[in-house]
Amino acid sequence: MDTLAMEAPMFSAAQDAVTDRIRGVAAELSTIVEAIDKGQIYPAALMRRLGEAGAWGSHLPRDGGADLAAAIEGMAVVAEHCGATAFLGWCQNALVWYLANSGNEDLRNAHLEALASGKRLGGSGLSNPVKSLSGIEGIKLKGRKIDGGYIVRGNLLWVSNLGEDHLFAAICEDTTGAPVMFVADCAAPDIRLTDCAPFLAMDGTATYSVQFRDAFIPDAMVLAHSAVPFVAKIRAGFILLQMGMAIGLIRDCINIMHEMRGTLGHVNKFLEDQPEDFEELLAAMEKETRILAATPYDTSEAYWRRVLALRLRGGEASIAAAHAAMLHCGARGYVMAHRAQRRLREAYFVAIVTPATKQLRKMLAELPN
Ligand SMILES: Cc1cc2nc3c(=O)[nH]c(=O)nc-3n(C[C@H](O)[C@H](O)[C@H](O)COP(=O)(O)OP(=O)(O)OC[C@H]3O[C@@H](n4cnc5c(N)ncnc54)[C@H](O)[C@@H]3O)c2cc1C
Repeated sequence: MDTLAMEAPMFSAAQDAVTDRIRGVAAELSTIVEAIDKGQIYPAALMRRLGEAGAWGSHLPRDGGADLAAAIEGMAVVAEHCGATAFLGWCQNALVWYLANSGNEDLRNAHLEALASGKRLGGSGLSNPVKSLSGIEGIKLKGRKIDGGYIVRGNLLWVSNLGEDHLFAAICEDTTGAPVMFVADCAAPDIRLTDCAPFLAMDGTATYSVQFRDAFIPDAMVLAHSAVPFVAKIRAGFILLQMGMAIGLIRDCINIMHEMRGTLGHVNKFLEDQPEDFEELLAAMEKETRILAATPYDTSEAYWRRVLALRLRGGEASIAAAHAAMLHCGARGYVMAHRAQRRLREAYFVAIVTPATKQLRKMLAELPN
C-alpha cells in the first residue's frame, strides 16, 4: 500500500468506544499522579483496569494487518494526565505486540490473552538490543542453547513495569552471536530484580535492573529463535506506540499555556511560542501517526524513514512544548505542586527512551539517500 499518498484514517466507532472507556479510567490519575511522580505509587491496579477498558488489546493483528491507532490514542489519553503511566502503557502494549506477532503458538496461547486484557502485566527489555542493532553497544545477555531452551546470563540496566508476577521480553545472543528473543518470568528463581537509584521522573514505573543468573528460558517462552527478522517485523510498532506518550504530553502542555492566558496573556503574548503553534504541530503529528499506525508491517524504506522522523519529532516537540509551558507559567510553574515542571521532566524521557533522539538521528543519517 502506498502510505505516502494516504489521508489519515478515521477512528471507528469501536475504537472511539475504547478511547472513551480509557478516558474514564485515566481521569482517576488526577488524584494519584503526584504520588506516582514521587515514586510512592506504581499504578498496577489502574493498569489492570485500563486493560479491562481495552487499552492493551486494540492493536492485536487481524486478517494479516494491524491498526495501532487506538492503542496510541489510549496511551495519549493517559499521557494527558501522567507520563509515567503512559510509559507503563507502552511497556504493556509493546509486550502484547511482540507476543501477538510471534510464531510460537504455545507462547501466544499461554500468555497473550492475559496480557492483552491487563490480567497480567509486563514490560520490554529491548533498549540494549535495539541499540546493539544500530551498532551503538553490544548485546548484554548471553545465551547458550541446551535441550529444550537456553541458559541466559547477564544484566539489563533498566526494565519497567515489572513485579513478582510480571513478564518481560528480552534478547540474548547465542554462542554464534545470533540474537534470540524471548519472554522472561520475573518469578523465575534465577532472574533477580534489583532497585534502581531514584530517577528524575518515571519513578513510579516499577523500573528494575534485571540479572539473569544462568536463567533457564524454555523454548516455550521463545518469541523468535531468529530475532533479526522478527525485530524487522515488530520494529515500526515498537516505535509508533511510543507516540502516545508524546501526543498526550503535548496536549497537556498546550492546555497549560491556555490556562495561563487569563492572568498572564497580556505579557505571555510576547513569548515566541504560543499554544496555537503547538496545536498546528500536534495536528500534523497526530495525522502522520494515524497514517503510519494503519500499516505497521509496511517494509518499504520510505515508510521506515517516516516512522523514524515522526518519532524524532515526537521527542523534540515534547521538550519544546514542555519548555514553552514552563515559560508561560512563570513562577507558578516553578512550584513543585504545579504540573508544568513534571511535564518538563517527563518530556525529556520521551526524548531519551530508546530509540533516543541521538539514536534516531544516527539511524536517519545512515539510511541510504
Ligand atoms: C526511568 C527509565 C526507565 C527505563 N525503562 C526501560 C525499559 O522498560 N526497557 C528498556 O529496555 N529500557 C529502559 N530504559 C532505558 C532507556 O530506554 C534508554 O536505553 C536509556 O535511557 C539510555 O538510552 P541512551 O540511548 O540515551 O543511551 P546512553 O545513556 O547514552 O548510553 C547507555 C549506556 O551507557 C551506560 N550507562 C548509562 N547510565 C548508566 C548507569 N547509571 N550505570 C551504568 N551504566 C550506565 C550503559 O552501558 C548503557 O547501555 C529506561 C530508562 C530509564 C531512565
